[in-house]
Amino acid sequence: MKIPELFGESVFNLQVMQDKLPKDVFKSLKKTIDEGLPLDAGIAGIVANAMKDWAVEKGATHFTHWFQPMTGITAEKHDSFISPVKDGKVIMDFSWKELVVGEPDASSFPSGGVRATFEARGYTTWDPTSFAFIKDGTLCIPTAFVSYSGEVLDKKTPLLKSMHALNKQALRILRLFGNTTAKRVFPTVGAEQEYFLIDRKMYDARKDLVFSGRTLFGAKPPKGQEMEDHYFGPIKSRVSAFMHDLDIELWRLGILAKTEHNEVAPAQHEIAPIFSITNVASDQNQLMMETMKKVAAKHGLYCLLHEKPFAGVNGSGKHNNWSMSTDTGLNLLDPGSTPAENSQFITFLLAVVKAVDEYQDLLRLSVASAGNDHRLGANEAPPAIVSMYLGEELAGVIEALEKDVKYNGKGKQVMKLGVDTLPDLPKDATDRNRTSPFAFTGNKFEFRMLGSTFSIAGPNIIINTIVADELRQFADELEGAKDFNEALHELVARTIKEHKRIIFNGNNYTEEWTKEAKKRGLLNLRNSAEALPYFASKKNIELFERNDVFTEREVRSRTEIMLENYSKVLTIEALTMIEMGKKDIFPAVNTYISDLCAAVSAKSSMGASCEAEKELIKKLSASNEAMYFKIGEIEQLLVEVKGITDVEKAARFFADKIIPVMQEMRAYADDMEVNTAKKYWPFPTYGDILFSV
Ligand code: ADP
Ligand code: MG
Repeated sequence: MKIPELFGESVFNLQVMQDKLPKDVFKSLKKTIDEGLPLDAGIAGIVANAMKDWAVEKGATHFTHWFQPMTGITAEKHDSFISPVKDGKVIMDFSWKELVVGEPDASSFPSGGVRATFEARGYTTWDPTSFAFIKDGTLCIPTAFVSYSGEVLDKKTPLLKSMHALNKQALRILRLFGNTTAKRVFPTVGAEQEYFLIDRKMYDARKDLVFSGRTLFGAKPPKGQEMEDHYFGPIKSRVSAFMHDLDIELWRLGILAKTEHNEVAPAQHEIAPIFSITNVASDQNQLMMETMKKVAAKHGLYCLLHEKPFAGVNGSGKHNNWSMSTDTGLNLLDPGSTPAENSQFITFLLAVVKAVDEYQDLLRLSVASAGNDHRLGANEAPPAIVSMYLGEELAGVIEALEKDVKYNGKGKQVMKLGVDTLPDLPKDATDRNRTSPFAFTGNKFEFRMLGSTFSIAGPNIIINTIVADELRQFADELEGAKDFNEALHELVARTIKEHKRIIFNGNNYTEEWTKEAKKRGLLNLRNSAEALPYFASKKNIELFERNDVFTEREVRSRTEIMLENYSKVLTIEALTMIEMGKKDIFPAVNTYISDLCAAVSAKSSMGASCEAEKELIKKLSASNEAMYFKIGEIEQLLVEVKGITDVEKAARFFADKIIPVMQEMRAYADDMEVNTAKKYWPFPTYGDILFSV
């Protein structure tokens, strides 16, 4: 198998376009893709036909507009290419209209009240900047999704808008630094993805995994991750076969899958692609997650993408490596080696610092979900407090710039912007602070708070928009300055002074940091119910409107969708716990108790002692009864929450009132699991699942 030939074979990429399209059509389409320009309507028909011929040649029979509604996963509706002609025959046909617009019924997708039922229609429109591809015999056309009245109903459109805003403002800054060659600036992203692989039979035997993606019960196994023998450990042959197949499938789809390794927890792994332009990285991450599930199924495995499938062992996240690049290949977060490059770098860096400080709330809520609530703030993932890590060297530079003093780092430099050169900033992985939520890693930032199931579109919409907004303010100030260097110097020192509180290079997992962060006035939004309402604050609505990313109505509807989603997830979890408690655990423990009782009477009749049995019977009976009444409490609370119509209040009710009782119920069940004979327990245990592959 020749990998270079296989790579991208299922993708209608630039190479294919060049081969299959007339020269002038290709040129026009390439311009649209490279410069983000509107599509020349005249060429759509020719492109559609070429795409169809190519797809049919590769065995495709159907096409679909592939879009990303606010469910967080992708959606598709398949149509076949067939079109009837005379004599009852058909031809394979695909018109420009079918390529460019689709009209799925939007009424069954979340819209947060944006769309009344009388305008149930939604439109999907082709996004030529992301390549079409073939998946399971269907030509998939990446599209945006909007309502009949023009409101955005997906995650892709605002992502493209945020990229547009960033481009506009970053170019203004570049021009100020004398760069006249860059035509475009775009954000780049490399998303590292964590996941668990378990045996399919284990998955099927657990209703909680099937319904909610995570285990709602389960006592700690005798062996967890304490031996630290899984991280980067040898990969088991079944897993290795899966990874190999996965790479091949991803390569076919033109996804640059690069690194695969074992993670910290047993059965946990990670895959990382090489970074690309953000909208492509976002589409590809969705496709990657889908492909992981599919390939796992072929190997008799199940791929768990939930943030916390198992209590007591590490959960799964996604690291969003983010930077900005010009079309000429310049990474704007690369410090460079000359004084001029350095001061441009410092300017872009400080825009990010200011953005993260002023919009901690948005970054925090962009990663908020019921699943991720189990990770953030626990000692395995970044805390719920947003802060930034710059590393010792860069922090020293920043301090020198603020105080306008000699920089006494390793290089013993005086830092005068535009005159002095930055000291070497070590890119070495060894001194990176793994506990920081937003870490500078040499030439990019790594946002580490994302949950493993997340579409990366949401967090990147936020990062792009907030950085664009700060760059806009910088450009406004600097463009109007009499003396550019003077003005820059002043801007840099002031920005550092006002926003350095967000920089923290220490251990984010400590209690002291929580206290220190409070002193610094940083936000600590502990769960989704607390964090999500911030989306629709006045400051944030103004930000989104100013940068043309969301309208106020879109912000409000999205807030509602996210809060509703949180409550829905918890409702499903609560109902699943009730069902497993009543139908599986309670009767199983009772059977064991009756068998123990029978043993006691048999043994007693022979005069044998039954103290152990009697104690166990008492213990299990008490726990089972207590669990039963907790179930009743949850049921009662679910009735109560139904009566709360305000979505924010309902979410808070779940967080404050229902989750604690769910945890209490689980504690009784887990305790009984430990004390119940193996053959009576109604589903596989943590030990069975985690060591099943
Ligand atoms: P690690 O964090 O494992 O040491 P790297 O730092 O090389 O590995 O890369 C982690 C991820 O960051 C990869 O997906 C990589 O492609 C991505 N990455 C590297 N450079 C950039 C960049 N300029 N912009 C966005 N992502 C990047
Ligand atoms: Mg990383």
